Amino acid sequence: MVHSFLIKYGEIGIKGKNRNLFEDALARSVRQTLARVGEGYTVRKERGRIYVSCPEGYDAEAAVDALQHIFGIVGICPVEIRERTDPQQLREDILAYMDAEHPGFSGTFKVHAKRIEKTFPMSSMETDAYLGEAILEHFPEAKVDVHHPELMLDVEIRGEVYIYSKVIPGPGGMPVGTNGKAMLLLSGGIDSPVAGWMIGKRGVVLDAVYFHAPPYTSERAKQKVVDLARIVSRYTGPIWLRVVNFTDIQLYIYDQCPHDELTIIMRRYMMRIAEHFARENEDLGLVTGESIGQVASQTMQSLMATNDVCTLPVYRPLIGFDKNDIIDLSKKIGTFETSILPFEDCCTIFVAKHPVTKPNVGIIRRSEKKLEEKIDALVNEAIETAELIKISAD
Ligand code: ATP
Ligand code: MG
Repeated sequence: MVHSFLIKYGEIGIKGKNRNLFEDALARSVRQTLARVGEGYTVRKERGRIYVSCPEGYDAEAAVDALQHIFGIVGICPVEIRERTDPQQLREDILAYMDAEHPGFSGTFKVHAKRIEKTFPMSSMETDAYLGEAILEHFPEAKVDVHHPELMLDVEIRGEVYIYSKVIPGPGGMPVGTNGKAMLLLSGGIDSPVAGWMIGKRGVVLDAVYFHAPPYTSERAKQKVVDLARIVSRYTGPIWLRVVNFTDIQLYIYDQCPHDELTIIMRRYMMRIAEHFARENEDLGLVTGESIGQVASQTMQSLMATNDVCTLPVYRPLIGFDKNDIIDLSKKIGTFETSILPFEDCCTIFVAKHPVTKPNVGIIRRSEKKLEEKIDALVNEAIETAELIKISAD
């Protein structure tokens, strides 16, 4: 007996001539991810399906966990493969499978047989009936329900027989690498890792940038961002993270500009620098964790003032989410516990007591004129001294 997984995927099935591209990207993701779990996994594409064959003595839990992190996978079906013989042998194999996987089964079920190899002497429908009867005999309390069965038993008759009855959910979305690259503004908070995950889920490769302000923000705050990027990279693949020293820029803004505008002006400089790196990396957009109205710097007026300096599209996948929904998602993807560690991020040090909630773009631009003397040099220095770290899940 060989153990395998059948990988079910959704949207990529409907992409017409791109289908091959998508399937190849998914198979590649599966291969790379399982290589980290252990040796001996083989992945093959066959008639619009992807199959994984597992090595002897493999760690099923680790394999499933790894597969559940791969965008593009909708369902993971553990499959048992038996040598194909005659109907009598098949009947025994099915009952042995049921005893092992669903001992004492007493619910409703349906057999869904598919005869792909036509030399088998029964049609698909005859096989359904034949195996259904065998199950009813073997499990006296089981019942057939062809419309809403609790258990769907799939039996594919090919060169061998594939048996499966469980679908473990995958994350859905599109395989990484099928939709270009974007630059994520990643802070240590709850929102931005979730925003990155959502964009990654659409097949986009992520770069990231983090602004820190030593000594106002600690090494531990930076480490937290690295840890968050690592969790996200389990789904998205390696992330190149730039760590920008933002202290001098912040201090200069603090010295020159009205304090109630600090956050907005700071955010505008973050966007400018992020955009610089995005262009350098040929990223097709920026990604932030902003959500309308969540804080003073995320009112419609503030978002407009922040967006004013950007020329690349800014993707804000959480824009309409309530905080609770974002928290639920961050728990689901595994970033929440790290996000809530209590290390300050650079914005909290310089926040004004009463920040403007309805900034006027014209006024903000005028305030920024007060920075003319030194700001270009400071921005250039921040860009030149940025640290580049490759983050990956291994
Ligand atoms: P988060 O939970 O993602 O930190 P937030 O609710 O704290 O978000 P803000 O501090 O207003 O909101 O930041 C809005 C967005 O700006 C963040 O989601 C993130 O994309 C980006 N951002 C904020 N601070 C930083 C930083 N220090 N480095 C990189 N990006 C940042
Ligand atoms: Mg934050």
